[in-house]
Amino acid sequence: MSGNEEKKFGLVADWATLERIFIRPEDGACRKTLVKYMEQILFGLQDFLKDNVGVTEEISLKELTTYYRDTLISPDPEKKLESVISDIITKIAPRAVNVASPYFVGHMTAAIPFFMVHLKTIVAALNQNVIKLETSKVLSVLERQVLAKIHRLIYQRDEGFYQKHVQSIDTTLGAFTTGGTTANLMAMWVARNRFFHGQEGSDRIEDQGVVPAMRARGIERAVILVSKRGHYSLKKAWGILGLGNKNVLPMDVDQYQRMDMKKLESVIKSLSADGKTGIVAVVGIAGATETGTVDPLPDLADLCRERGIHFHVDAAWGGPVLLSERYAPVLRGIERADSVTIDGHKQFYMPMTSGMVFFKDPRALDHIAYHSNYVNREGSVDLGIKSLEGSREANALILDSALKIMGSRGYALMIDHGIETAKAFAAEIEGRAMFELITPPVLNILTYRMIPPGYSRLFADADTDAGRREFLNDYLDELNIYVQRTQREAGKSFVSRTRISPVPGDEKGFVVLRSVIMNPMTTLAVLKEILDEQEGIGRIFFRQNPPPGLVL
Ligand SMILES: *Cc1c(COP(=O)(O)O)cnc(C)c1O
Repeated sequence: MSGNEEKKFGLVADWATLERIFIRPEDGACRKTLVKYMEQILFGLQDFLKDNVGVTEEISLKELTTYYRDTLISPDPEKKLESVISDIITKIAPRAVNVASPYFVGHMTAAIPFFMVHLKTIVAALNQNVIKLETSKVLSVLERQVLAKIHRLIYQRDEGFYQKHVQSIDTTLGAFTTGGTTANLMAMWVARNRFFHGQEGSDRIEDQGVVPAMRARGIERAVILVSKRGHYSLKKAWGILGLGNKNVLPMDVDQYQRMDMKKLESVIKSLSADGKTGIVAVVGIAGATETGTVDPLPDLADLCRERGIHFHVDAAWGGPVLLSERYAPVLRGIERADSVTIDGHKQFYMPMTSGMVFFKDPRALDHIAYHSNYVNREGSVDLGIKSLEGSREANALILDSALKIMGSRGYALMIDHGIETAKAFAAEIEGRAMFELITPPVLNILTYRMIPPGYSRLFADADTDAGRREFLNDYLDELNIYVQRTQREAGKSFVSRTRISPVPGDEKGFVVLRSVIMNPMTTLAVLKEILDEQEGIGRIFFRQNPPPGLVL
């Protein structure tokens, strides 16, 4: 295009153009395009996604990367707003992933209620920054209220407690974060500073660093204990906090994928024996990422209280189950945790991204308080003082509105549907000769694998022969990887896969297919279709790679 043509099409960076596009769509055509797409997105979200976004696209990652290699920022405008929006809808969306499809049951990211997009838009429009009151005012006050509501859901303290703390200037019940990772980091940050607090010379580890703090306590390392099913964000946290991700010690699980309490107790005993190791925290998982399983929280709470160890519950996934009268008892013991992580963008069905962390002790966050003269002076009520993050959007408004729109009972309908559909799915898997259920759903996640009919007999025959069992599992690994990949590439359905070792003591484990049922539009009929498709793919694999030692 020559310079003149650019001018004619308005593709020029001058003040007049900027004034136009900064404030409103520059012309009628642009407005029409925006209205067309926004109307679809705001009022027909599920249809819009079905029509415009792939479950998975056949295009390879390698090919995709060839289109995204240009690294120069164009000095002049390249496109008008109107065509940028059209491009996003017609070129980007089809190559994104329709996580809202009822057939997309592989991950913890799925459909959200359509009104979440409206709420998110309003939050963006108001553009409040809850780091401080001067940029958020009522939204900081509202955030405190929402935090207190969720705190109450977890800890069930009395009305007097919440009246005292909900808007108190010097106590804090929790914090909003970008997600579970940063929520866990905040919890471990508090646990670390608490652990080292008050020791002569180590006060505070936050100021002096790790070495003098360790020296003052007379220890050489500080550990946290979490089951093997723990989320890797805990390792990140311990690495960032300067205590070494190798010091996140993975504890054995029992056959139900729950923390093995006997083993945990013996590890704690042996760690305590030499006096060189500080045990800063024990983490219980309420809804493990891979299996959805829940650790024995009451037992962990007893143990931690006995030994004065910080008890953290990672309920990033399972926390919202507390809204369900029927299934809340699965999380019994969570109310005794010193800190709790809950994700907003998982089972609170909020848009990406939002997480929260809560503390039983309203003064716990004092351990990580920071002040700065220009933002939040000492004695101010700004939320940025006791938060890992600086500038933040007003996500509390989204959660508060959603709780008003649906009520805890509305949320419970979705939670119960997920758990009950997962249970029905498990029964369906057990009823089919070509599948084996590996971890039954405690909540709404389960793992299973494909197995040729009759193959389990071979395992029985191989009873004590570990080498033979490994050989048999290797074949199943190949089969399940093939099934998962082929189904994903076919583009209609998606389950994920992971490797777990369901037999205590067996380190290598095997490949399993993993389903997360959180979409209210995912029904048993949909799940049966997914299994049917997998069986078809499996049969193709058997033909090409007959199972060793079996005549089909
Ligand atoms: C998802 C998850 C996390 C991490 O949360 P993000 O929001 O992805 O940062 C931590 N713990 C558990 C148990 C999770 O399921």
